[in-house]
Amino acid sequence: MDLVSKVQLVLGSGPGIAATGFRFVLQPLYIGLAKLRKQAPPGAMDLVFRTVRAALFVVRCHEGLTMVLMNRIETIGVDLGGTKLAVGVVDGEPKTLWSDQVPSNGYSQEGLIDLLAEQINRAHEARPDARAAGVGIPATIDFESGHAVSTVNLDLEDLPIKDLLQERVGLPTVIDNDANLAMLAEALYGAARGADYALMLTLGTGIGGGIWIGGEIFRGSTGSGAELGHTVVDINGPRCQGNCPGRGCIETFASGTAIARQGREAAEKYPESALGKLAASGEKIGGGAVTQAAKDGDAAALEVISTAGHYLGNAIVSLTNIFQPEVVVLGGGAMAMGELILEPARREVRERGLNPNNQAKIVAAELGPDSGMIGAAALARIESEAS
Ligand SMILES: [Zn+2]
Repeated sequence: MDLVSKVQLVLGSGPGIAATGFRFVLQPLYIGLAKLRKQAPPGAMDLVFRTVRAALFVVRCHEGLTMVLMNRIETIGVDLGGTKLAVGVVDGEPKTLWSDQVPSNGYSQEGLIDLLAEQINRAHEARPDARAAGVGIPATIDFESGHAVSTVNLDLEDLPIKDLLQERVGLPTVIDNDANLAMLAEALYGAARGADYALMLTLGTGIGGGIWIGGEIFRGSTGSGAELGHTVVDINGPRCQGNCPGRGCIETFASGTAIARQGREAAEKYPESALGKLAASGEKIGGGAVTQAAKDGDAAALEVISTAGHYLGNAIVSLTNIFQPEVVVLGGGAMAMGELILEPARREVRERGLNPNNQAKIVAAELGPDSGMIGAAALARIESEAS
């Protein structure tokens, strides 16, 4: 084996950030040394190479040990939803070491802050080694100051949540939009793992959005960007939900709330359908009932979900043409619909997206309902490592 190949074998063996850095620094040095070898005394250059190889080995061991220790760091993640709050303590694997869920509906602004502080403190008592907390909120967020600016589906407005919580929990605390955190979790550990460019849509009460660009969450100029659920697909469409002044946002066609509403309309229009009979029996038609009826083969319910998928696909056409992601992840409680909505959405993207942007994979989230909580804990870890 010639000397340059030997050098490349040493430098190229094993992954790791340090090894990559060393490759850039040491490879030119090695090649320079190799050229000098002919003039050097016999054995001298081999000694130099052995020494450098030993140094590299030490660096790699140190890097491996650091990663093991960092993975053991525990952080608290909280995902505040419109109806429930999920809280957990997670390490870097990510392994959930403790978790719980409590109802979150019916609280005032002050009540929600009390609830958040109380749940973070409970988690900290359960795992005293936890060193930071992350909180996901379905709101537009000023990321630096930790203000919730406004929410579509919760009673929070212009509130310095980060400061209010830090005072009461005694831990470094970071807040972010809940869908940004679901995106972070799926990018680090789930369906978008390994991707440099990815998008996330969370289908629930509303539709949240997350954007992953070059290995980082994109938040816009102050932190309120990536509201992909308010992508307009019909300028004359229905008024959007809550505080959104828009019309025909994708949230009005494909959120769990929208599907429930369209399910009730279909039940009226087709009284002989399973949905119609369910409504006639006095049962309340929600998103879950529409999904179940569609899974049981009810044509009216299938039409509701396939129409929602058609609109959702067209929103994704615009998004893939702008971002050209490798993967678009669909999550949130309403994704119990699974392939019933993924399939029509994929078809629209393939047919109407520009080539090659239409090749983006459209997949279901992998981390399930815990993704927001896991992402919140991951953000707390990232921010505490950075500070
Ligand atoms: Zn909207």
